[in-house]
Amino acid sequence: MKKILMLFVVIAVCVCAAAVAKDWRSGIAWEEPKAVKAGDVPNAPPSDAIVLFDGKDTSEWTNDKWKIVDGAMVANKGDNRTKKKFGSVQLHIEFAIPELKDHKGGQGDGNSGVYFGSNYEVQILNSYGNNKTYFDGQCGSIYKQRAPMVNASKKPGEWQTYDIVFNRPKLQIESGKLVKVERPAYITVFHNGVLIINHHELEGSTSWDNAPHYDPHPELLPIQLQDHGHPVKFRNIWIREIQDDNTKPKQEREPYFL
Ligand code: MG
Repeated sequence: MKKILMLFVVIAVCVCAAAVAKDWRSGIAWEEPKAVKAGDVPNAPPSDAIVLFDGKDTSEWTNDKWKIVDGAMVANKGDNRTKKKFGSVQLHIEFAIPELKDHKGGQGDGNSGVYFGSNYEVQILNSYGNNKTYFDGQCGSIYKQRAPMVNASKKPGEWQTYDIVFNRPKLQIESGKLVKVERPAYITVFHNGVLIINHHELEGSTSWDNAPHYDPHPELLPIQLQDHGHPVKFRNIWIREIQDDNTKPKQEREPYFL
């Protein structure tokens, strides 16, 4: 009986917390990113890439509700995470916003996202043409932290690409608590081959209802694709693990001429 009562209290607290959550906005007056028309880009995985989805095999992923339709994995019933976890990476991913008769616009149109862990989101959204939303929440934004430099979005139904470089943060964590951000995370994004985010320093996690802030998390995180209730399609996903920083090997002698 006591356990049931406790469960009831926990549920009530959660419901109340959800009820008071408010849409947090940065207050920064981002200018509208200029639209550019992207060219075609080569997308085949290089030899040292880990292929996360090749159009047939979803075994690298945890959510079996995401089914394969015509060689694409479709967002459905919850987020989908990789089984493997990663630190700093180069990630290639292709996505298509659903074609609808009636595009509702704003955040309710083809919303998904590429996350590093559950923490850092590069937004996926229909931002083609006149579908407007807050600019640091449009397609290619670091959600609520930075608008893309330009809008390289293609039409709903067309395949689009992200090539993302993610440099993980270095967090000093003691007893599960964040003591110090030793180095922030950085993200670079090419959208359909166009540079839209250039080595952007993350201020922390990308939250809908909170200002950015770092939370303690492990060094290695899964890649997570967001299910926002829209059947966004994904294909040709591959990843390369990269060096955390640009440290050089040990200098064994003074520089010299041959
Ligand atoms: Mg999203």
